[in-house]
Amino acid sequence: FERENSNFIRNIVIDDLENKKHDSIITRFPPEPNGYLHIGHAKSICLNFGLAREFDGRVNLRFDDTNPVKEDVEYVESIKNDVEWLGFGWDELHFASNYFEEMHDRAVLLIKKGLAYVDDLSADEIREYRGTLKEPGKESPYRNRTIEENLDLFKRMRAGEFKDGEKVLRAKIDMASPNINLRDPVIYRISHSSHHNTGDKWCIYPMYAFAHPLEDAIEKITHSICTLEFEDQRPFYDWTVRECEMEAIPRQIEFARLNMTNTVMSKRKLKQLVDEGITDGWDDPRMPTISGLRRRGYTPESIRNFCSEIGISKADSTVDSQMLDYFLREDLQMKAPLAMAIINPLKLVITNYPEGESELIEIENNAKNEEMGKRFVSFSRELYVERDDFMEVPVKKYFRLFPGNEVRLKGGYYVKCNDVIKDENGEVIEIHCTYDPATKSGSGFEGRKVKATIHWVDANNCKPAEFRLYEPLILDDEPENEGKHFLEQINSNSLIVKTGFVETSATENAKKNDKFQFIRNGFYCVDSKYTTEDNLVFNRIVPLKSSFKP
Ligand code: ATP
Ligand code: MG
Ligand code: MG
Repeated sequence: FERENSNFIRNIVIDDLENKKHDSIITRFPPEPNGYLHIGHAKSICLNFGLAREFDGRVNLRFDDTNPVKEDVEYVESIKNDVEWLGFGWDELHFASNYFEEMHDRAVLLIKKGLAYVDDLSADEIREYRGTLKEPGKESPYRNRTIEENLDLFKRMRAGEFKDGEKVLRAKIDMASPNINLRDPVIYRISHSSHHNTGDKWCIYPMYAFAHPLEDAIEKITHSICTLEFEDQRPFYDWTVRECEMEAIPRQIEFARLNMTNTVMSKRKLKQLVDEGITDGWDDPRMPTISGLRRRGYTPESIRNFCSEIGISKADSTVDSQMLDYFLREDLQMKAPLAMAIINPLKLVITNYPEGESELIEIENNAKNEEMGKRFVSFSRELYVERDDFMEVPVKKYFRLFPGNEVRLKGGYYVKCNDVIKDENGEVIEIHCTYDPATKSGSGFEGRKVKATIHWVDANNCKPAEFRLYEPLILDDEPENEGKHFLEQINSNSLIVKTGFVETSATENAKKNDKFQFIRNGFYCVDSKYTTEDNLVFNRIVPLKSSFKP
């Protein structure tokens, strides 16, 4: 196997295959169905599915649904959809809740081995007794209950005899361990709430740290990849697999989670943005969710290439969110057709062009990709151009339209600005130009040069459209740092809506999610939520250029 451009996890896999520790690998992606997936999850998906694919192994999609309160089938469906959209398929689909019976039996086994006990301390007391890094913990007065008593109490916990929080089951390990996670962690708690999968069958639920290693072992996962914050849990992970006498022994490996500038990544925070109406749902184009990125117009290729570029390491860092934009441009510049759109329209009248007439002008569909061919764009006496492309009193080095100046219309003729029409408030509403028929693009005209080419649409043959321009939703560069509150960092100008026009030719058959490069404007995507038969809505994915270089 090639070890160049590898990463430490991939190298572990290669070692394990070469040393015949495993004949083949099994990985898993284990989301909790308590929200929509985000770009951080994409990093984990690319890693887990990518390894299985590369090494001809298997990968499971497992819903880690051991917490009855926060989970929902809506999330389950969205997660499946997002993983597939990213371009991955799973070998097996599992729900951790299907293992509740087995997990319960393993907990009973621990009790029988004298390695677990029922504790009556409250959650606060347990925390207090647990101690700190500097001082050892204190043993619970219930720690030395007999095996018989523990078996009986655990049975009664399951039977629903006690209220939430009245009792817990704890692993009996070491209250003086320097690793606080080993100071008798709680492994089962009482919760009288309905579960999306098991309904009211259970009123005791396993804790995540106990459930996860069992899930991995049950599925015979070879490499259980998780984020760094679980590093301290690894001793308990190994303890659980060993003491529960699991047949398969998975290995937990931790890597650094993805953080991005101007982005909050935790599902809990994203849910808050949705619940408080700050965004238009989980798939708002400003959200870092997979569904938000999809609606905004990001492609699966751009996300996968981004994940591959950022790599896998053990050191936490924050990635510039513009890096994802770079990969989007890379992906779309050869694929997305060029088109002309006017986002901030100003009427331009060619006074010497015959009234009622029009012509078709041939323009390439992608300057970088000749294979995409050409199209005919309608041209007539009245056009729309961008307001920005005109200045009544030009600043220095302004070469676009101003009274007396001549520019080229993309694919068309030279036009010279002669007059300016204003409304009663003094605002320019129309500019009057004359064109020179000899200057048509492609005619070989060499008589004189102009310094600017601007884009346009035919006012008599175009479609109205709405353009949604996005800026970062969060102003803070590193919003997930300690002590910062992301809700105080919301950018109130993160969505700017413009109404303008697009050329008919390129957008005639535009479907939801289609992507375009609007000349001089940016990459845009037909919004899947608000576009209707007679109202095209475009999301700006990214502007054309950025200063960012990877
Ligand atoms: P959140 O705090 O956003 O809810 P989580 O880790 O609780 O994240 P899970 O549903 O448990 O979310 O995540 C499923 C998998 O995705 C886990 O293995 C987790 O390690 C991984 N993951 C989650 N967030 C990131 C991230 N930012 N970067 C890389 N991997 C991530
Ligand atoms: Mg989690
Ligand atoms: Mg979480």
